[in-house]
Amino acid sequence: MTATTVKKKKNTKEQESPTVGIVSLGCPKALVDTERILTQLRSEGYQLSPNYEDANVVIVNTCGFLDSAKEESLEAIGEAMAANGKVIVTGCMGAEPEQIMKKYPKVLAVTGPQQYEAVVSEVHKVAPAPHDPFVDLVPAPGEARKTSRLSEVEQSVGVKLTPRHYAYLKISEGCNNRCTFCIIPKLRGDLVSRPIIQVLAEAERLVKAGTKEILVISQDTSAYGIDSKYQAFPYKNRTVRTKFIELCKELSEIGAWTRLHYVYPYPHVDEVFPLMQEGKLLPYIDSPFQHASPAVLKNMRRPAHQEKTLDRIHGWRKAAPDLTIRSTFVVGFPGETEEDFQFLLDWMQEAQLDRVGCFKYEQVTGAESNKIQPHVPEEVKEERWHRFMALQQGISAAKLQKKIGREMLVLIDSAGKQGGLGRSSADAPEIDGHVKVTGKNLKPGDIVKVKITAADEYDLEGKVVA
Ligand code: SF4
Repeated sequence: MTATTVKKKKNTKEQESPTVGIVSLGCPKALVDTERILTQLRSEGYQLSPNYEDANVVIVNTCGFLDSAKEESLEAIGEAMAANGKVIVTGCMGAEPEQIMKKYPKVLAVTGPQQYEAVVSEVHKVAPAPHDPFVDLVPAPGEARKTSRLSEVEQSVGVKLTPRHYAYLKISEGCNNRCTFCIIPKLRGDLVSRPIIQVLAEAERLVKAGTKEILVISQDTSAYGIDSKYQAFPYKNRTVRTKFIELCKELSEIGAWTRLHYVYPYPHVDEVFPLMQEGKLLPYIDSPFQHASPAVLKNMRRPAHQEKTLDRIHGWRKAAPDLTIRSTFVVGFPGETEEDFQFLLDWMQEAQLDRVGCFKYEQVTGAESNKIQPHVPEEVKEERWHRFMALQQGISAAKLQKKIGREMLVLIDSAGKQGGLGRSSADAPEIDGHVKVTGKNLKPGDIVKVKITAADEYDLEGKVVA
């Protein structure tokens, strides 16, 4: 959960400005939606409230991926209702408003994912946009008039809820796949890729504003541009197409670390690893495999499930030997037998993935997978999860041990007098491990060379080298 902690400023004009509280649940894609809503509201002169009580209205951006996430969203709505009472709900769960209205009939409005304008217009109804005579009477058109209310950084990149040195770059909305356990396409629709020049312009603005690491996100990054038939645009004396590999090539020249998330193992993805080997993109790929057993993958209807994934992984590592592969898995999927699960464990042993998340299958209302039989009993899911994690923990610990003695670049996230916490190319924020760094005068956003001195199952320790 991300709650804004923006301090209120004290001058009289701003004290009169309406204030908005906001809570953002769910994945980085939802966080980017929240940033977009806040950018619009800030541009109109709204202030952000660090708590619900002082806000004129509270926005809850919900997650609807799993039933447990929906429960968490309902709880957050309940908290906001109790503390404030004027609540607008948006996000994935807003695509199915009945559940929300049934539990909280006094919610002011429910809008679906990506309905930024609808959220903002609901905010206008409860707390009209402030009138600022110094801005509103300037006879300049549209955005130029509005943006003068934003700080310099906000004017260039919008409101960001991540630390200044890293940012999520969302390249598309929706998804053309139909995995049986997932209701995202129902909630967010089919794939709609942003034109590549828009994405590159945003990346350039981020780097100018001090971003050191760009995290490329979407529902299916490898499918980028399929919907627009790889639409081409003139860009810096050349033509670029809205296409995965062209985006990667352009981002490799942008002047920041670029990390790729949600990339499926299609053959065309192989082209990206030479760029990693040349040091132009971070040697890191987040590819959610979810399982290895052909029967389970078929039941899941996973994209690229017919690809020979182990062969692909070996090929990727050959092309970029320092590659970190991150993935997520589900155990206890309906129909998963002990043989399927053992197949997954054997596969994991061979794949030797670097970073792994594992979830026990959860029923999601409206997902097709609910109909697959038989469902795996909870205690079996639990037992499989522990076996899976024990295996992966051993793999991870052994891999990190091998890094002791090596020197690597680390991006500092937080710092104190004697050192700080940072991340190497192998660590995405929030989901992977970190490097505990000893060294003086470190600041968030610094990239320093560190010699690794110790390792445990997930994290490293090291010292700054001159
Ligand atoms: S790829 Fe599958 S799991 Fe991911 S958003 Fe699309 S349908 Fe859902």
